[in-house]
Amino acid sequence: MNNTGTLRHDWTKPELLAIYERPLLDLIYEAATIHRTWHKADEIQISTLLSVKTGGCPEDCSYCGQAARYHTDINVQALLPTETVLAHAQKAKDAGSSRFCMAAAWREVRDNRDFDRIIDMVKGVNNLGMEVCCTLGMLTEQQAQRLHEAGVHAYNHNLDTSEEYYKEIISTRSFDHRLDTIKHVRKAGMTVCSGGIIGLGETAEDRMSMLLTLANMETHPESVPINALARVKGTPLENNPKIDIWEMVRMVATARIAMPASMVRLSAGRIEMTETEQAWCFMAGANSIFTGERETLLVTPNPGVSEDKQMLTNLGLKPMRSKR
Ligand code: SF4
Repeated sequence: MNNTGTLRHDWTKPELLAIYERPLLDLIYEAATIHRTWHKADEIQISTLLSVKTGGCPEDCSYCGQAARYHTDINVQALLPTETVLAHAQKAKDAGSSRFCMAAAWREVRDNRDFDRIIDMVKGVNNLGMEVCCTLGMLTEQQAQRLHEAGVHAYNHNLDTSEEYYKEIISTRSFDHRLDTIKHVRKAGMTVCSGGIIGLGETAEDRMSMLLTLANMETHPESVPINALARVKGTPLENNPKIDIWEMVRMVATARIAMPASMVRLSAGRIEMTETEQAWCFMAGANSIFTGERETLLVTPNPGVSEDKQMLTNLGLKPMRSKR
């Protein structure tokens, strides 16, 4: 078991599984104690996510409504103009967000004019004094360096699931590709945002295997998004069962215990959680949420800004200030 004052990078899967399967209230109590040792427990990081290029992705991630090969209801949208993105960022800042994350549905970044435009967006958002985060697909070392120099604070690249289960979910790239991009991000000096999704049909062992990969990295990802599958109509996983809230709470708590210093983020699937259910996740150590002014998290619904503000007030929580 982790004591409350140290970071470990030598976890084993049986250890994580034993934590995950502990009696629920013991697990939450331990995670809440660790949360309070490492973080101000009344602060929640609010990040705004904007899809700057939506849909038409050549990849086959079976959970994703943006994959061109699935017949989903999303509106395909080319790369947004820089001014539009900056207007969204300003609005997000005014609404209390400290971090602005720009997402593009690309397999990988290409060295072309679209990437030049992303660089301009990054510089613009950076000038607003917000932490800039991007999620643009796979990166080379040079592209990671360029993003860092333009002012990107964090790069999101989720593992999605365990190495063992990965090929059941995505066939167009490998788990090792994910790890390579994360290495490039780290080497360039950006912070890493990497987590995964539960509800893909994986086992508890798969969940722990994914957390093990993250928790045994030389440096833990600074942000760990824990997503519940958003079941998008038209994708191969649209009929998967809804994730039970206690599985989500167990996942959040285990991530908190294994990576005490990281921000553990509630991401996709939050729309299907009640305020009470989200409160349990915060109690178990989640301290970051995505919100979206267009009330979408990429292409799936997400609670609106005003709803989130009300929830934070009800729970006695406040938005975390930007660390910049
Ligand atoms: S998750 Fe990302 S890479 Fe996979 S299909 Fe969706 S947009 Fe493409």
